[in-house]
Amino acid sequence: MQPQNSLLSATGTTIFTVMSALAAEHGAINLGQGFPDYDGPSDVIHAAAAALLDGRNQYPPLTGVPELRAAVAAHNRRFYGLEVDPAAEVVVTSGATEAITACLMAVLNPGDECVLIEPLYDTYLPVVKLLGAVPRLVRLSPPRWELPRAELAAAFGPRTKAILLNSPMNPTGKVFTAAELAFIADLVQRHDCYAVCDEVYEHLTFDGWRHIPLMTLPGMRQRCMRIGSAGKTFSLTGWKVGYVTCDRSLAGNVAKAHQNLTFTTPPNLQRGVAVGLMKDEAYFRSLAEGLQARRDRLGKGLEALGFGVLPTQGSYFITTDIRPLGFAGDDVAFCRAITEEARVTAIPVTAFYASPDAPNHYARFAFCKNEAVLDEALARLGAWVAARRAGRQRAAS
Ligand code: PMP
Ligand code: GLN
Repeated sequence: MQPQNSLLSATGTTIFTVMSALAAEHGAINLGQGFPDYDGPSDVIHAAAAALLDGRNQYPPLTGVPELRAAVAAHNRRFYGLEVDPAAEVVVTSGATEAITACLMAVLNPGDECVLIEPLYDTYLPVVKLLGAVPRLVRLSPPRWELPRAELAAAFGPRTKAILLNSPMNPTGKVFTAAELAFIADLVQRHDCYAVCDEVYEHLTFDGWRHIPLMTLPGMRQRCMRIGSAGKTFSLTGWKVGYVTCDRSLAGNVAKAHQNLTFTTPPNLQRGVAVGLMKDEAYFRSLAEGLQARRDRLGKGLEALGFGVLPTQGSYFITTDIRPLGFAGDDVAFCRAITEEARVTAIPVTAFYASPDAPNHYARFAFCKNEAVLDEALARLGAWVAARRAGRQRAAS
């Protein structure tokens, strides 16, 4: 048999699936893959359920049902002051995952360079490579994850076509500052390229941090493809409804990419999401406040157990430094050990890097869980840490 696609053959199963399977095998509390263990807003769910029953179950329009496109445009105006034509500047996709691929497909030709920022979400690199484009990686360094401006500037050149920016960022919990965004916007304009903006955590920011879409910066309206996810905004990760907002000059190609990937997205879910995006301010505020409380609960608990807890300004995730625990092994071994022995699962942060020289002493914990579940996870980890400490003391005496 002839060899199959070499890039896919060389790509492993996503770390989220691997760790979720390991969690299930060991009866572990899964703080790995980022999904809430509570349901999204009931009016949104009921709207989607009702939308199955009124006879609109055939292919919806390619770029999304009119209600959702109108709601995406209204949401852009309400939160960011962006004026968007719902008929020509919104494309609904099957999740942000598809949107990311569609936006990259819309602009990249084989040989074009695409700037990516590490640590990075796991679909970015394979998709850029599958399109025949050349990734240019720039690394943020823990614990502050500041943008290395000189390195970023050096990554842009005559062949740069796009940058892929994720803010609020998975796994770091970083929210890019206005100054960092201005620096990126300047590079994008000077090199006449595009920005794919993965903003799935746009509403999940804490401590007064506000998400600023790169698209709102001067000169960036025509260059950005801004991606949102109903999964994150409505705590309904299984729904896989994403939405791209971009200039009409880009939306045609994004829509044609979508046409060749999935063509359309389930109409009832789209209609549910349309109800969600029109919800009042209180919903969005309490979403963030609720998550901030969960972040604090898990973060304080992990700190008390001896983890180094890095600050998180947004997203579902806390990154922890495992070195203070004295574990002999890397992040992969650690996440496996806590899954099997403590029965709590986390994600090794090396999974978010392209090469093996990544820092290998960080573990990512998801805090989008019920408080009792977070408390039980902390109790299990506490017992595990204490048992290991006692074992070390016995060995030393
Ligand atoms: N981008 C980032 C940074 C994510 O963490 C996720 C997680 N789901 C996605 C994209 C994908 O979103 P969706 O589930 O809507 O495809
Ligand atoms: N975005 C989720 C995370 O980072 C996982 C999504 C997935 O499993 N593909 O945990």
